[in-house]
Amino acid sequence: MGLLGLVLPSRCAVCATPGPALCERCDASLIRIAPPVCERCGCPGAWPVRRCVECAGRRLAFARARSALVYDARARAPVSAWKERGRRDLAPPLADLVAEVIARPDVEAIAFVPGDRERGRARGHVPAERLAEALSARWELPVERLLARTRLAPRQAKLPRNERGANVRGAFAPRGKTPPTVALVDDVYTTGATASACSTELRRSGARRVDVVCLARAVR
Ligand SMILES: [Zn+2]
Ligand SMILES: [Zn+2]
Repeated sequence: MGLLGLVLPSRCAVCATPGPALCERCDASLIRIAPPVCERCGCPGAWPVRRCVECAGRRLAFARARSALVYDARARAPVSAWKERGRRDLAPPLADLVAEVIARPDVEAIAFVPGDRERGRARGHVPAERLAEALSARWELPVERLLARTRLAPRQAKLPRNERGANVRGAFAPRGKTPPTVALVDDVYTTGATASACSTELRRSGARRVDVVCLARAVR
């Protein structure tokens, strides 16, 4: 903990109530994604399906993706505090949420979507890496730095959905050999383009199966 952490009392990152980084009320207001979900992409729906309108016919390189929270207005507050305002102390409660909703994947290691150095430095941390580390302790799986960025892609959030796949293609590269089964951790799942591009590289370097684990998921 830094000096500021010792001096300033901790407050909820959402409502500023003194106490933990995510107070009980704000935690309870976040919508957990509950079954039934699409077997492949984790999109919630009325029935359990193997493919849904969102992922059918798409080439997604991961076996399955699961997300803990619906990425709505309520979830946006803690996620932006964590990602944009550098509230590192949110990583433990957010990892608790992920572990509460998503069963421990049956894999050998945890990888994460690498941050781009420029943005990572500006914010002082790489959120997906923090989440992977916090999940590593909860799931007793090692975190491995399996991926690197090869170039700085324009921010996905600023692009229309149909351009996101092309934007991230070739943006990642494996750093070495990848274990046969890996969980890939990211913060927000929107179209799955980033997770798929990373999974392609993990498979190219040895993974037979990649399970994606995300904190929150856009639901249309
Ligand atoms: Zn709160
Ligand atoms: Zn789906």
